[in-house]
Amino acid sequence: MTEFSKSTSIEPQAFASLALSPQIVRAVQEKNYTAPTPIQSAVIPGVLKGRDVWACAHTGSGKTAAFALPLLQRHSEAGRARPRRVRSLILVPTRELAAQIGASIESYARYLPDAIKVAVVFGGVSINPQMMALRGSADVVVATPGRLLDLVEHNALSLQSVATLVLDEADRLLDLGFADELAKVLSLLPERRQNLLFSATFPPAVNALAEILLRDPLRVDVPSTPATVPDIDQRAIQVDAPRRTQLLLRLIREYSWTRVLVFVATKYSTEHVAEKLRRAGIKAAAIHGELSQGARTRALADFKAQELQVLVATDLAARGIDIMSLPAVVNYDLPRSTDDYVHRIGRTGRAGQSGVAVSFVSAGTESHFRLIEKRHRMTLPREIVPGFEPVQTTAPIASSPGATNGGIKGKRKSKKDKLREQGLK
Ligand code: AMP
Repeated sequence: MTEFSKSTSIEPQAFASLALSPQIVRAVQEKNYTAPTPIQSAVIPGVLKGRDVWACAHTGSGKTAAFALPLLQRHSEAGRARPRRVRSLILVPTRELAAQIGASIESYARYLPDAIKVAVVFGGVSINPQMMALRGSADVVVATPGRLLDLVEHNALSLQSVATLVLDEADRLLDLGFADELAKVLSLLPERRQNLLFSATFPPAVNALAEILLRDPLRVDVPSTPATVPDIDQRAIQVDAPRRTQLLLRLIREYSWTRVLVFVATKYSTEHVAEKLRRAGIKAAAIHGELSQGARTRALADFKAQELQVLVATDLAARGIDIMSLPAVVNYDLPRSTDDYVHRIGRTGRAGQSGVAVSFVSAGTESHFRLIEKRHRMTLPREIVPGFEPVQTTAPIASSPGATNGGIKGKRKSKKDKLREQGLK
């Protein structure tokens, strides 16, 4: 992670002291936000002043409100343009994140005197309802880049009045191969604008983007690496790969986890593991990029409503999922990329709540887990659960973290393939 030399000092304070309007303060209080999170305390004053922001923030830090609250405040101060025009554009990597941010913004804006119209647009679903919803434009647009460009091409949307651009999960946007779309969107925006960049990690591509995008940014880096997040209990359990489902069942029962997000490497594994859990009497469902949007939304809603106890997901399908009080995340398969480890475990221990993140480590994945530990400057003790003592000493091919075909040998999926599965391109 980039070291930020000019990191903002963070003092505990109340929402009202951040110069937010009483209507916005009322909306956040109704959501039971008692005090701003560190990222909110650091970012909100800067955004209100019109500054660019370069923030290191992970999902779960409260970053959505960090940019959304001051943007809404600025919207309401500016009054509504007639005809309506897009003033804030929020680009995100996935449709789930788009939907989630859109819903949050609507809830934050509910008491503002001038109604704020929020449009959420993403690929993988028919474009027509989104074009209809955009009639007369919108004040705030939350979008995945590909669909946004489609809508601009259809003249459903103009970006000429955008005053603030937010890039959320910028590392994911680039990781998913959106660099070209991003460049195209940037070329359609007015030169004078405010830019806010949020990213959990800072690989060179994100830093390069920040260099060209941001003018004298306020740099904000709140502690967010797993090693410094005190409310996530990270554990590594040694187990032979073929016994992972049994161990998962044991842990679910032993700890009475009400909701567990289980990460696996492939679409095949999501279904396979969910099926085995169901056969053991656990309410479980799979979520992956090849499911229809309807099926994904349903699975997520059931999980949030606690009608499902376990959701078995791939990284892509789970990205940005925001579920309060998620007590446990299990890395059934280790993440291929060390950065994904942060994204995964960020799904638990949110907003001050505690959570546990368990990684299954087998003989074949031990060296990969060591890489993850090194990258995040931590060392976890390896635990062994009685009855699950590992006996394997070498890796069966199927248990390698990079097994993208559920262990079946074959071509690895490209980023574009994954995007197509997601319906984002
Ligand atoms: P985010 O990082 O924006 O995805 O937010 C993570 C979760 O924290 C969301 O469910 C928010 O509703 C919640 N949240 C955001 N800000 C606060 C706050 N100040 N106090 C309590 N919860 C918050």
